[in-house]
Amino acid sequence: MNKLILLFTMSLLFSTSAFSARNIKHCGSNAESTMKDALRFLDNNINTIINNTGDLKNGEKKRLKNKLANINFKCMDHKQVCKKKATRGGKSRHLFNAAVVICYNNIRTLLQDDAFCTLADVLIHEAGHAAGVKKDWGHNNGPNNDKVYRLGYAAADLCRTKSLDRAIRLNTNN
Ligand SMILES: [Zn+2]
Repeated sequence: MNKLILLFTMSLLFSTSAFSARNIKHCGSNAESTMKDALRFLDNNINTIINNTGDLKNGEKKRLKNKLANINFKCMDHKQVCKKKATRGGKSRHLFNAAVVICYNNIRTLLQDDAFCTLADVLIHEAGHAAGVKKDWGHNNGPNNDKVYRLGYAAADLCRTKSLDRAIRLNTNN
């Protein structure tokens, strides 16, 4: 019982925005600057991305904006979570949904000259998971057309429409 109460208290602490503001962690300086560019694009266009996704519920929209502003984005290219799966762009499972893992160099290698808009796709996709945006059963088996994937596609499409796509520089912090 005490453990439950402690967990509940901790989750309140960690989910209160006063205790958290977005950080980019473990990215080398080039990668960090690219991550900032992609997050700035998402911040500046979040309402359009949400509208283009189509059917997000009001609660999902609110939580998504909150998570995008407050979670930590971690470049984990040096860890097994990214190394063992070359097609992994990111992963959201994390304590209290306070951070997401980004496999920055996997995205860079797979997408080459089109990497930047896919990075934006992955960042908002993982933020969507952290925000509890509804996903279809079997989501982890690969791309489908559920809300989380469509959120990422909406970001990538808008990014390409604005001619922002480009290659991204290597994350050397591994
Ligand atoms: Zn996913």
